[in-house]
Amino acid sequence: MLMNGRASAVASGHGDSAEGGPSTLPLGRRVHRLRPSGGIARHAGHLQCADPSAEEIGVRVRRQVSGALAALLVGMGAVVLSAGATAAQEGPRGPRFTAGAPGAGDAYFPFAGNGGYDVQHYDLDITYTPPAPAPAPLVGRLSGVATIDLVATQDLDRFNLDLRGLEVEAISVNRKRATEVAPPAPGAEVEGAAYWHVQDDAARSWELTIQPRPKIKKGQTARVVVTYGGDTTRPTDIEGVLYGWVTMRDGAMVVSEPEGSMTWYPVSDHQTDKATYGFEITVPEGKVAVANGLPARDPVTEDGWTTWFWDAPDLQASYLTTASVGDYELRFSETDGGLPIIDAVDDNLTMANAATTEASLALQAEMIAFLEDAFVPYPFNSAGAIVDDDTVGYALETQTRSVYSRVASEGTVVHEIAHQWFGNAVSPERWQDIWLNEGWATYAEWLWSEDSGRDSAQALFESILDIPADDEFWDLAIADPGPFGLFLGGIYDRGAATLHALRVKIGDEAFFAASQEWLERYDDSTATTEDFEEVFEEFSGQDLGAFFDVWLRTPSKPTSW
Ligand SMILES: [Zn+2]
Repeated sequence: MLMNGRASAVASGHGDSAEGGPSTLPLGRRVHRLRPSGGIARHAGHLQCADPSAEEIGVRVRRQVSGALAALLVGMGAVVLSAGATAAQEGPRGPRFTAGAPGAGDAYFPFAGNGGYDVQHYDLDITYTPPAPAPAPLVGRLSGVATIDLVATQDLDRFNLDLRGLEVEAISVNRKRATEVAPPAPGAEVEGAAYWHVQDDAARSWELTIQPRPKIKKGQTARVVVTYGGDTTRPTDIEGVLYGWVTMRDGAMVVSEPEGSMTWYPVSDHQTDKATYGFEITVPEGKVAVANGLPARDPVTEDGWTTWFWDAPDLQASYLTTASVGDYELRFSETDGGLPIIDAVDDNLTMANAATTEASLALQAEMIAFLEDAFVPYPFNSAGAIVDDDTVGYALETQTRSVYSRVASEGTVVHEIAHQWFGNAVSPERWQDIWLNEGWATYAEWLWSEDSGRDSAQALFESILDIPADDEFWDLAIADPGPFGLFLGGIYDRGAATLHALRVKIGDEAFFAASQEWLERYDDSTATTEDFEEVFEEFSGQDLGAFFDVWLRTPSKPTSW
């Protein structure tokens, strides 16, 4: 992810000017100025960030909510632990069927994802009606059938999916219909095949529980079909920032980091359960629906509706799924190596934004080749962009097809393309590991800047070190920033500085060899900060414990390492 108006060395004097006025400050100064507002900067945009009073409000609000969250997490931790304690174990007398956990075990988002099974494939058949013209409310209508193929990883009596803000109409498991029932008391028995849906906005817990009959044994596959739908609005994440299925007047921008996919389909909404995807998205004739991967077939138009078919056969984390709808023009091209590039560009960008976007997207093939040379081959079957004239305030690296708000500037495009390796092929195992996404994507901007004859990575590193030691920028242990710290400036810029300092410390040969090993060892999977440290110690032959403690775990400015 990259907030609009925030990055980047490369964008300085380029595309970002279209979004928030020309940005001519050196990188370090811009980071310094944007830093105090953190999450506010991410969604309020460049102009408001420059207003000191807005920054102060941002800090105050963030701290207040943090306190409330801390209390909430303590409560939720207790719930998850008790669920974990009942995890299935096969006893000497055969299977013991128990409930799958209501979360994947992520301390920042305890109810994101679920336990007890492993999803193989989602097939999402969605019909979407965008809002009527203003002054009608900004509310769309979505109806869907999600077909989910999963394998049980324990003997399952019940299991959960995450689904937020939409209603379930019907569920079947292996073609057997389940009946909707009232949520039972904890520990209470429920007769027969059943389901219940508990949506608790205050606890940020949106759990659809399914009790299949017959029960599912460990290792067995099941096909779960959920028919669902409802009004779509403009959901927000834990920081109050738009995400998920964000309803726009002309369609929807679909960007779900960290756990917003549950706002548009029933899902195990955590990156530790990657799956493949197929999409059939039906929208009013004239609208274009764009998802991940490649078109499975030509769109079909009938009775004023057009169905778009997409196939995403590469394993994919739920937060990287998109199915954006808008007034897009689709453009097909390919790299010299034959990788398909599909760009969906809104017809209604401003002339300046359209020009910036054209110039940046024209560099995608070159950026992919540059990153392939530095690291390993591009990890997926296609690439490209979705550039919407609306904004959620940031860009997101949705797999194979990043989403951009209003404009795609050069720095942001190389950032999102780098995420296809760093974040998408190798995903953070816990949300606390997000610096591995943003540090690498920012460092790719630095490498691209140097390669394009602009500021060198060393110069950009030094501009970060120019930030005074008493600046709040340094008050962040980036290996555990807390759920409100995922998108603070330090995650990006201190993360990139960590990588550059590491490269200087162990030398280019070990640094790039370890980077390649990192991408190969954890391809199509997830990994932790500790896994990262292990690979780089292995390849450097050095004990880097003190280095990583200083850069990743100490909330102050590094002085020696
Ligand atoms: Zn990013």
